[in-house]
Amino acid sequence: MENFHVDENGYYGEFGGAYVPESLKVCVDNLASQYLKIIESKEFQAEFKQLLKDYVGRPSPLYRATRLSTHYNTNIYLKREDLNHTGAHKINNAIGQILIAKYMGISHIIAETGAGQHGVATATVCALMDMKCSIYMGQVDIERQYVNVEKMKMLGAEVISVTSGTMTLTNAVDAALEAWIESENNTFYLLGSAVGPHPYPDMVARLQSVIGEEIKAQLLEQTGRSNPNYLIACVGGGSNAAGTIYHHVHEADVNIILAEAAGKGVDSGMTAATLTLGTSSIIHGYKSYVILDEKGEIAEPYSISAGLDYPGIGPMYANLVDKKRVEIQAITDDEALAAAFRLTRLEGIIPAIESSHALAVLENTKFKPEDVVVLTVSGRGDKDIETYLENVSRFAHVK
Ligand SMILES: *Cc1c(COP(=O)(O)O)cnc(C)c1O
Repeated sequence: MENFHVDENGYYGEFGGAYVPESLKVCVDNLASQYLKIIESKEFQAEFKQLLKDYVGRPSPLYRATRLSTHYNTNIYLKREDLNHTGAHKINNAIGQILIAKYMGISHIIAETGAGQHGVATATVCALMDMKCSIYMGQVDIERQYVNVEKMKMLGAEVISVTSGTMTLTNAVDAALEAWIESENNTFYLLGSAVGPHPYPDMVARLQSVIGEEIKAQLLEQTGRSNPNYLIACVGGGSNAAGTIYHHVHEADVNIILAEAAGKGVDSGMTAATLTLGTSSIIHGYKSYVILDEKGEIAEPYSISAGLDYPGIGPMYANLVDKKRVEIQAITDDEALAAAFRLTRLEGIIPAIESSHALAVLENTKFKPEDVVVLTVSGRGDKDIETYLENVSRFAHVK
């Protein structure tokens, strides 16, 4: 099988790369020249593994969901990233990157955040490692995400309001990148997903690959085989999916299904279905599929889920789609909501609305009774309770 991981030039097939201005290229190249040596060092691995175990609570369980399996007449195992400290997979990456910053001798972390989940994960690890933390956030998002903003401040972070453009995530990314350039290698830009210029997509995938490493070992222990018939995950930028499939993507007997957010429907104009609708283009310093409007500009994405509401997608997925290695399902808001209520009622697990997109794949796919299906529950639903309550009456009959 061909290589689906990054090549020596920072590309996945024709996607990826580092499309950044010269001033930013210095920062990116500096990171690219150091990250692999650091990640592969014994000292880093020991410290990373220790924190994942004692601070995050890893390994996260691989749980055979008995009632869900009966419901779909197959064998479903849930990878429980929702049980991690801070409630999602994002902490794996945040801990890994802050350790890389430490090994590079940097003690000021900058990051951008949209809904605030990545900002909270970053502020958390900055408190843990006693590092200065500056979070760039659009003013509109600051007003919408009051609780996460207060959490970041409580954790000791400085939240910097960005008032350019639409005052949302894209502008926050630009402001954070500008701050990175101006700092002349005295800050570390902690990116939250498998996106951005090389080496970020590969670095994030490697740090999240602990998910797939555990799946292999846990599945072997529980079923006598380390390869499932299906691996399923949701993709926003693609970090939890990258971790889930990292160690299985070159195994031809493993089918991979990824759920992206269709929003109100792929043809509705209110969608974030990048892999279904996207055009090859450059966004935030890398080449991938991007949703463009009629003018050829980056479209404003929409999804009920803040974590999947992004107009680009990690470059590895553009390549995996082109090479037909993965199946993509675009899941609507309502399909995700139904899946959330179903999991809650069948298993007593309230999933994050992002994860519910992956769970909806179970409803849309025909499995054999002997199939083994592994699905990553990327986060817990506490942060989405308001969304669920607003919709509970419409989904009263879901089983
Ligand atoms: C942020 C987030 C996502 C989307 O990010 P990826 O990088 O695609 O994994 C998915 N699920 C949860 C719970 C999140 O917080």
